[in-house]
Amino acid sequence: MLNLALFGPPGAGKGTQSKLLAEKFNLTYISTGDILRKEMGEKSPLGLQAKSIIEKGGLVSDDIMVQIIERTIGKALNSNGILFDGFPRTVVQANILEELLNKMSNPLTCMLSLEVPREELMHRMLERAKIEGRSDDTPEAIKFRLIEYENKTTPVASFYQEIGKYFPVNGVGTVAEVFERLTNAVEHANRFEP
Ligand code: AMP
Repeated sequence: MLNLALFGPPGAGKGTQSKLLAEKFNLTYISTGDILRKEMGEKSPLGLQAKSIIEKGGLVSDDIMVQIIERTIGKALNSNGILFDGFPRTVVQANILEELLNKMSNPLTCMLSLEVPREELMHRMLERAKIEGRSDDTPEAIKFRLIEYENKTTPVASFYQEIGKYFPVNGVGTVAEVFERLTNAVEHANRFEP
């Protein structure tokens, strides 16, 4: 299996690029943000629990996220591979994902990190807010999402660096340019997988 995780700050283009990558490499696409939005839309107990945190721009608890990921990975095991969009976002989640995938003898191939400067992120998210109307795309929620990212998610990069699975990619450019860089990184990572 080719198992990829796409990492990067909010507004880096993870959603757009991961859909393209999933299509190119024929991977099962798992977006924890999409799963949570669906649960919120259905007003499920989990959705109701997560709603206020998401709308504020905070990270949902690791407990909830692990329940979601265990349930979803199980269903994706017979596929060509999995593409994780927006997971893991904390070191606890990263440890659990490594453990789960290793136990299933299908380790993560690499963590691709989309690198985009902060001013560009703010600009992109405010533009997206005009089009998509996501409830967490208000200026306050965007600022808080960036703070949560700095505090809780950036340590995930070191976690993957230490195990040799971290592949930074320049996320500034056209969708096609960034996609080509990501594809090259995947091919490189796949070639050197132990
Ligand atoms: P996204 O669509 O990936 O930007 O996610 C939207 C929101 O869902 C985030 O701002 C978080 O509130 C929540 N969320 C998504 N994935 C995670 C995760 N792995 N850990 C914690 N919260 C998450």
